[in-house]
Amino acid sequence: MRVTVPRGGSRREAEQFVQKHEKWIARERTRVRTESPSPEWNHGTTILLHGNPVHIAVESHSRGWRVFYGERSLPVREGVDVRRAIEADLRELARETLLPRLRELAVVHGLTLGVVTIRNQRSRWGSCARNGNIALNFRLVQMPAHVSDYVLLHELMHIRQQNHSRRFWRLVEAACPGFRDAERWLKTTGRTLF
Ligand SMILES: [Zn+2]
Repeated sequence: MRVTVPRGGSRREAEQFVQKHEKWIARERTRVRTESPSPEWNHGTTILLHGNPVHIAVESHSRGWRVFYGERSLPVREGVDVRRAIEADLRELARETLLPRLRELAVVHGLTLGVVTIRNQRSRWGSCARNGNIALNFRLVQMPAHVSDYVLLHELMHIRQQNHSRRFWRLVEAACPGFRDAERWLKTTGRTLF
């Protein structure tokens, strides 16, 4: 974070200011992220699917309207919110593909999964509860496989270690050696998914 020190102000004062306001700054950041509306998706908009840019096409057919993106297509009503329609379809795709992949990875690492749910989360990619229940953000299907696999492995390793201790990160690194690249992708490109 950068703080501009006003003329005559000291570095120490600036640091104190930041400390005092850290909580507020964190709260503001979450507020801005959750309240700023997502950009609209329409005919011609490019979105990510499995890490590849794909164009959205909205076309009228004899039996009504259809939305196409990547390999996917879905019927829509005229005047529908295209983003909402596609996001519902992405959620379906997430259910079809992420759940079996998570089960597969759980078996590989000898872990017992609880209930898995697919969610529309604004501020997290996934979460893991003490009982092994895992929630995944449907936007993982928009990411390259190596990034979504990292998120799945990250949550799975929380079954063993319910924190972000050094021990936890050692488990992550052993299961997913390329996790730093994936983290970088999430912090940069990942933000554009909202
Ligand atoms: Zn975590």
